[in-house]
Amino acid sequence: MDGKGWLGKSFFRVLQALLPTFCRLCGGPVLETPVPWICGACWGKVRWLTGPVCPRCGFAFPSPEALTHSPGHLCGNCRDKEPPFALARAAGAHEGALREAIHLLKYGRKHSLGKKLGRFLLPSAGALPTPEVVVPVPLHPSRLRHRGFNQSLLLADAVCRRLDVPLDHGALQRVRPTRPQVELTPEERKANIRGAFAVLRPERIEDKRVLLVDDVFTTGATVSECARVLRKAGAQEVVVATLSRSG
Ligand SMILES: [Zn+2]
Ligand SMILES: [Zn+2]
Repeated sequence: MDGKGWLGKSFFRVLQALLPTFCRLCGGPVLETPVPWICGACWGKVRWLTGPVCPRCGFAFPSPEALTHSPGHLCGNCRDKEPPFALARAAGAHEGALREAIHLLKYGRKHSLGKKLGRFLLPSAGALPTPEVVVPVPLHPSRLRHRGFNQSLLLADAVCRRLDVPLDHGALQRVRPTRPQVELTPEERKANIRGAFAVLRPERIEDKRVLLVDDVFTTGATVSECARVLRKAGAQEVVVATLSRSG
């Protein structure tokens, strides 16, 4: 590196350290906050899903008394069709600062957020039965090349370190590229994701309790398809932890 380039870079770093960052939500200065690029006030408004949820899929019931008289009451979706995963839990509602933080991680290329946000995934992951292996929802190689990293792998890595459970990011692969689920209706999501995953190393998950990690649970189509494929390949049980949940 020539002297001029080095000097330029150092000057830029000093400027970065001196200038305040502004919150991506409210535009206020970001001072003391657990999450970079989001101010403490906005982060404080995140709606963590600590109220009553569907005991199977983690859907947040609107009424705080939903489970008072029947603690095993399942949501409509789980009653209509049993999900292929044993349990699913999400940390927070997919709105406001949490949605923005996930957006920054995925599309804003702020991959340092992976570790920070992974910490917030822990309460929901920790409430699930202790897994023997943690598997992130994989990206197709073409999307991975474009994005440069898999956000679910970053979150799963943070969870593994805290739970002291091995991470396996090679057993489950995305073998078919798919359209982004966000553009699709619930029915289209299911069709879009069907056959997109394969277990290429079944010996790594066989007879094991698997914790599947993803960033967002929307209709559950993606994690359901992953769980179905993992179970078919011999996983004893699949539980799901996501950072956020919409719907
Ligand atoms: Zn803010
Ligand atoms: Zn449910």
